[in-house]
Amino acid sequence: MISVTYQNQSSEVVRLLQYGTALEGSVAEDFLIVVRNGEPQPYQGILAMRFPPSINDYTVLVPGQSVTAEVDIEASYGVRQVGGYQVYHRDGQGGAIESGGAQFWLTESRAQPALPRQASPQQVAPKQASVARFCSVAQAAAADGALSVAETYARHARDDLRNTLISARSDARRYRYWFGQYSQPRWNRVQDGMTRIYSAASSRRFTFDCACEAGTNRTIAYVYGARTSEIFLCDGFFGMPRAGGDSQASVLVHEISHFNDTANTDDGPHGVNGALYGQGAAVGLAITNPDRAVGAASNYQYFAANPTGLPMPTEGGDGDNGGGDEGDEPGSLLDPLIPPEPESIPRILVPIVDLLLGNER
Ligand SMILES: [Zn+2]
Repeated sequence: MISVTYQNQSSEVVRLLQYGTALEGSVAEDFLIVVRNGEPQPYQGILAMRFPPSINDYTVLVPGQSVTAEVDIEASYGVRQVGGYQVYHRDGQGGAIESGGAQFWLTESRAQPALPRQASPQQVAPKQASVARFCSVAQAAAADGALSVAETYARHARDDLRNTLISARSDARRYRYWFGQYSQPRWNRVQDGMTRIYSAASSRRFTFDCACEAGTNRTIAYVYGARTSEIFLCDGFFGMPRAGGDSQASVLVHEISHFNDTANTDDGPHGVNGALYGQGAAVGLAITNPDRAVGAASNYQYFAANPTGLPMPTEGGDGDNGGGDEGDEPGSLLDPLIPPEPESIPRILVPIVDLLLGNER
């Protein structure tokens, strides 16, 4: 366990989004930098998709006020081997977090616990039915139904990318909307990633785990990047519609994109208002940082589900570009459909983080 203190060192009241901080009570994304003997430790924890933040997901701090939370980092950052460790908080929340560091020694190595409830070894084709773990019959059926829609989304997305002539790529609207300015390396990354997402969706034997053990009540779904056939589904997932921009199917595209052997995506940076998911955050990332957008799960999710109906200038295809892209021609690339931001938080505020290490469990 480490203990993390967030202090408002500004002169204004700040609202600190709990997502991506120790205030969540567990590590739900890669928000720390953990260094062992000078070597950054790879993140091994969950990549959790959560609902957009509500007012209850912020902690209010008046000037000078601090709040402290404990979080277990052993499994997520592999803190098991003897050595000298340093821990920093990533800057986040629009650069509002500044971190002091902390260090500790681990004087006795800890055994790596056997991975609990690992999926059994899988065979490749022909495709076998997915495995449901801790799911009701209805949940298992919903997951399977969503997977087949996700497979269709991914196939259309792959075909649309593949069938767009190189000369037409820099103007491909749907690509530009979700991935930003065209460059050939970025396009290639997206096309390769989407091809792998489709391949996984269509042929991998997934295990759906409905226990949501590592999630919180705000979590929709999560995966571990290295556990490439397991998808963890939480209650929020089952409240979503099967198909559409924000749907069970698009969430599955998002989660499958995270795996190390597909598109190896992350969740991108938190926006100024803390947004990490949702169409607005994805569009914003495409505009401001195309290099990150082509590595961000939500951008694959929405490109594939195509909620805006934007076309792709494909050649030689059958004209079926996925979700309803005939006929409508939004006038401008970047102005439509950017959802309003939730209440903004001032970005200049600087809560300073102090990590106080207690190396005991
Ligand atoms: Zn994610």
